Amino acid sequence: MFLEMKGITKSFKKFKIKDLSFKMEKGEIVGLVGISGSGKTTIASMLLKLILPDSGSYLINGRNALSIKRKDFSRIVQGIFQNPARALNPRKKVSFLLKEPYLAHGKSPDDLEIKRLLESLSLPKEVLNETPNNLSGGQLQRIAIARALSLRPSFLIADEPTSALDPTVQIQIIDLILKLNRKEKIGIFFISHDLNQVFYLSEKVIVISEGIIMEMGDADEIMKNPHPYTMYLMKGKFSEANREKGKCPFYSICPLAKEICRDSMPELKKTGENHLTRCHLL
Ligand code: SF4
Repeated sequence: MFLEMKGITKSFKKFKIKDLSFKMEKGEIVGLVGISGSGKTTIASMLLKLILPDSGSYLINGRNALSIKRKDFSRIVQGIFQNPARALNPRKKVSFLLKEPYLAHGKSPDDLEIKRLLESLSLPKEVLNETPNNLSGGQLQRIAIARALSLRPSFLIADEPTSALDPTVQIQIIDLILKLNRKEKIGIFFISHDLNQVFYLSEKVIVISEGIIMEMGDADEIMKNPHPYTMYLMKGKFSEANREKGKCPFYSICPLAKEICRDSMPELKKTGENHLTRCHLL
């Protein structure tokens, strides 16, 4: 099974996703990285069909994903988010919250199934009698992941799933995602502003700026030969723009910028075996 976006655009008042195209296979981990406001959550929302693109196609195994009924779609693609508490009813016990996705699909999980879920997420059975407000951020995120996995989807869209957690718990959740990917062969689209996490987890990486893919390819190839924008993100310094905007989204702060970068948008072109880069100088 594969998931593919082709030539996707989405416009808002002050922001636009432009010509977004990428593909991921089931069982693959693809990382999406960019600074805040670069379009990561818009892309996650479109992958989850929470918002619809203006144009382009979204395919799952060659089939138009937008025409797949919501119930069927949720058995293929599920999401986890930065703030799991928002998705969990604070008045309900975890025992109910874990059963809820099954019930929504007319299924009634047995205790063994719930036990399997708890074990795969390293959650103690004592949490079943708790309500979300008695649990830690890490436990809540594990419960959100358990709910997302309960229907055994092929793809998990993970939108900044560790951002609200403290550093030790972040590592635990990252390791858990990796374990789930290896054990359940679930494809993970991992979105983060944290390059270290993205490169640690992902086989393929997409780097975006202002709704435009700047670079995409095998994580190893990008690490060896990064685009100037990716290099800038690697340094972790987000300085203010120092010149007017250009056609390349990185023009205003790029240390290598030339006149051509102001006047024309570079194409996304092949610069390695499995590596596409958008830069006039590469
Ligand atoms: Fe920098 Fe120009 Fe390359 Fe954009 S196209 S990244 S401004 S050198």
